[in-house]
Amino acid sequence: MHVSISSNCVGCGACSAINPEVFEITGNFAIVNPHLVCGNEDSCIDAAIECPVKAINIDGF
Ligand code: SF4
Repeated sequence: MHVSISSNCVGCGACSAINPEVFEITGNFAIVNPHLVCGNEDSCIDAAIECPVKAINIDGF
């Protein structure tokens, strides 16, 4: 699974609240820690569903 954040991100923090291992807010933007995606796939999907601007892209699963 590959997780990325698009430029639509508004830094709301919802993804890091759901999945703090993978998503971190820096300034007004979320970043992904790709090394921690493995084992946290379900909460990556949950974060993508909950993102209010659909900025989380998930491929390869
Ligand atoms: S939930 Fe979406 S908009 Fe909010 S910080 Fe995460 S990627 Fe950005």
